[in-house]
Amino acid sequence: MSRRKCIALIAHDEKKDDMAAFALRNDAILSRARIVATGTTGSRVLEACPGLDVTRLKSGPLGGDQQIGALIATGEVDLLIFFVDPLTPMPHDVDVKALMRLAIVYDIPMALTRATAERLLAAPGD
Ligand code: PGA
Repeated sequence: MSRRKCIALIAHDEKKDDMAAFALRNDAILSRARIVATGTTGSRVLEACPGLDVTRLKSGPLGGDQQIGALIATGEVDLLIFFVDPLTPMPHDVDVKALMRLAIVYDIPMALTRATAERLLAAPGD
């Protein structure tokens, strides 16, 4: 039996409305996957789409980005969707960089914008 795809979702505060709208629009596709998300992002996604299988990790600034990085390193994440706010300084900027670095090291499809995320989700086989 093939395992369900695991999709990691993270959105910075200014992007959380975008993430909730994105999840709602793609509810049917996301419902076929297991979702892991940083704490607040996971709550917002679950509010928008209560039926999704979402595991909420720590909030990003408290280690959630690093938890997702660890899941990437252990091969558990198939796709990273990370709506980054490019206009606000982040206390956990180093964690954000480290997460992106691991996604590159392990060659994980990574969408940093809504446009890319829509295309990756629509890609054949997803
Ligand atoms: P959050 O974390 O979903 O808990 O807000 C995201 C982040 O800011 O990295």
